[in-house]
Amino acid sequence: MMFDFAIIGAGPAGSMAALQLAKQGYKTIVFEEHNSIGIPVRCAGLVSEHVIKMHDEGIVNEIKGAIAVFPDGKEIVIGGDRTHAFVIDRRAFDSSLAEKAMAEGAEYVLGKKVKKTVAKKFFEIEGIKARRLIGADGPKSLVARQFNMGEIGFFNAIQGYGKYEMDGEFVKIFLSNEIAPGFFAWIIPADKARIGLATLNKNVRKYFNAFLKKLNVSTNEITAGLIPFGLRKFARERVALVGDAAGQTKATSGGGLYAGMKAAMMLAEHADNFLEYERDYMKSIGKELKRCIFMRKILNRMGDKGLNSIANIVEENIDLINKYGDIDYPSIVAKEIAKKHPLKTVAAIAKAFI
Ligand SMILES: Cc1cc2nc3c(=O)[nH]c(=O)nc-3n(C[C@H](O)[C@H](O)[C@H](O)COP(=O)(O)OP(=O)(O)OC[C@H]3O[C@@H](n4cnc5c(N)ncnc54)[C@H](O)[C@@H]3O)c2cc1C
Repeated sequence: MMFDFAIIGAGPAGSMAALQLAKQGYKTIVFEEHNSIGIPVRCAGLVSEHVIKMHDEGIVNEIKGAIAVFPDGKEIVIGGDRTHAFVIDRRAFDSSLAEKAMAEGAEYVLGKKVKKTVAKKFFEIEGIKARRLIGADGPKSLVARQFNMGEIGFFNAIQGYGKYEMDGEFVKIFLSNEIAPGFFAWIIPADKARIGLATLNKNVRKYFNAFLKKLNVSTNEITAGLIPFGLRKFARERVALVGDAAGQTKATSGGGLYAGMKAAMMLAEHADNFLEYERDYMKSIGKELKRCIFMRKILNRMGDKGLNSIANIVEENIDLINKYGDIDYPSIVAKEIAKKHPLKTVAAIAKAFI
């Protein structure tokens, strides 16, 4: 049987692409290695309103703000005025998105790990042929490797569920190279708190155990995963990548749902020209992802002393942050702060790089 599109991976990026392509009448098939969609969950499930506007299933909590804990122990409350984010149940979110795609006519093959795609005039997977191929197969993308889409880096992430006394409307993030070198640790309130961290260090379990000890909590259902750090090339004439496969995550926060699902929508808009999908994406969200990479590099060169000094900047600019803060576009607020304090900003960047 001949399909217009074969998609590998039924995560949010793959299913969003399937939904949008099937809606346009394209014959679309999705291969997923797991028997059920949405598990195992390797995600804290914290998303913005932008994501909920694309798919509003599986919301389990609304978040009004964040408490940022700095290396010296200083805590700063950000937001609090309105709903700034949502916590979702990824299993419900992913599976309901796939159901929507199926209802539009997309076909799903579950429990099938694609090991090889034969690329000739058509793409062939397990005897099924397709004119075009989409890799929505996560950070270690097989499609990216097969079609030489380039190498990227990764943050090592880990998360578990546990009991932790906290305000149910605020997430807590811990910025410290002692707790999570090169990234941060988080506690997200839901029925059970989602406690996790990511780091550039490979020994993520060691840091996680130390973090749990510091909090004096235990967790279960622990899962580890990778968060891409960097963007790959993500389009060739007949092959495209979306979501984590392409490296479409924010290097500042690790969030990938918005950037990946938006990419899937843009890819479907350019279903007949993948190269335009890449061009348009890089002119819009891709630009923001690059800014996030730049900001992450600065943060990681600052060390804990630099992070402590950021606490002062955050405190001084809390109104700006509350006004312009958008978890999917962190550069907007960074730009506003830089405009207000140009000398301090240049000095901080120079200090980080010299
Ligand atoms: C610990 C952790 C916490 C996170 N927290 C957040 C958060 O709070 N908010 C946020 O926005 N993002 C978060 N992220 C990132 C987010 O989870 C990802 O960006 C998102 O899942 C990417 O979606 P995707 O569809 O591109 O890939 P995935 O969700 O990884 O889906 C890829 C799918 O492809 C399948 N697959 C892979 N290879 C094959 C193959 N060869 N054959 C068949 N199937 C295959 C996999 O089984 C999987 O179902 C977090 C990530 C981690 C690791």
